[in-house]
Parts: sequence; structure tokens; C-alpha cells
Amino acid sequence: MGVRRWIEGWPVYRQATQGDLLGRGAAAKSDGSARIEARTHSADRVVKSICPYCAVGCGQQIYVKDEKVVQIEGDPDSPVSRGRLCPKGSASKQLVTGSARTNKVLYRRPHGTDWEQLDLDTAMDMIADRVLKSRRDGWQWEVDGKRTRRTLGVASLGGATLDNEENYLLKKLFTALGAIQIENQARI
Ligand code: SF4
Repeated sequence: MGVRRWIEGWPVYRQATQGDLLGRGAAAKSDGSARIEARTHSADRVVKSICPYCAVGCGQQIYVKDEKVVQIEGDPDSPVSRGRLCPKGSASKQLVTGSARTNKVLYRRPHGTDWEQLDLDTAMDMIADRVLKSRRDGWQWEVDGKRTRRTLGVASLGGATLDNEENYLLKKLFTALGAIQIENQARI
């Protein structure tokens, strides 16, 4: 490396000669920094979404490459969050791609000592059977001579990670089943 190039490599030289006297711009950038690319740079496309973690519902931009999620950032178009995500929301890529994520149905039978895998159709049928039985067993046509037509056999307790649409559907479903115990942890 020549002496001239060596001197030109000094940040203070660049500050003085490139109009960046406070050293807050390009003069302070190292070659290493100049080579760094944003993790979103190579994405094929961006999909709008909502953070799944809490009821605030911050907007997200999901960056996709080769049909895989490569990064999740805040959505500047969201009137709720205007591009911001809290630390939990910023880490939501882990929720989607983390190796600890369970993506098979696991079932532990009564008195079982270990989990076993079920296919989704079998599990859905088992849940539907249990809901129907509990609804029937807890059904009340009337109480103290007053018509109630309700069931105390099933209840719904939602969590703050449910979004508006999920809560809407839960309320519709459980009310249609005749349940009256429909709650959400975010209301407590
Ligand atoms: S967890 Fe954080 S980023 Fe996600 S919706 Fe709630 S406040 Fe927004």
C-alpha cells in the first residue's frame, strides 16, 4: 500500500477532505462496514403481516427468499406501529424458523408417560368428538324455570397473542355452540 493511500485511509483525513468534519458520515465508515449488506437486501419479495405476539398488533414486513423467511422488520405503513417493533416482535423470525418449533401434533394419552405423534386429521376428529360430548353433557335447556339453552360444558380462554380476526371467530364459534364462558387473558 502506497503512503498516499495509507494516509487517505485515515478517518481523520477523510473527515477533513470529504466535507464530513464531525465524522458522522461516510468518513467514519470502514471498508468492513462498506461491505456489509442489510439482511433484507437479497430478498425476492416482501409480504405484509402482523406481529403474532400481543394485542398491539404491530405491522411487519416479512422478507422472503427462495420461499423461506429470511428477515422480519417493522412496517412503516402501519398506523399502529409506524415501522417499530419491540424486542419480542423484532425476534419473531425465531418463532417461524426456530429449530425448537414444534410442527407435529403431539398427544399424551391419559396415564401415558410420553408424547406420541398424531396426524392432523385424527387430532381434529378427536377434538371435535370431545367438544360435542362436553357440550351435550353440560347442556342446560332451562334454569329455575327460565329458558337458557346454553352449555356450561365448554369454555374459551384466549391469550393476548390472538389477533382481532381470531377473537372474532372464537366468539362466533363458541356463542354458536351455546357457550357463555368466553374470556380473554388480555382483558384481565
Ligand atoms: S409483541 Fe411487540 S412488536 Fe409484537 S405486537 Fe406486541 S408490541 Fe408490537
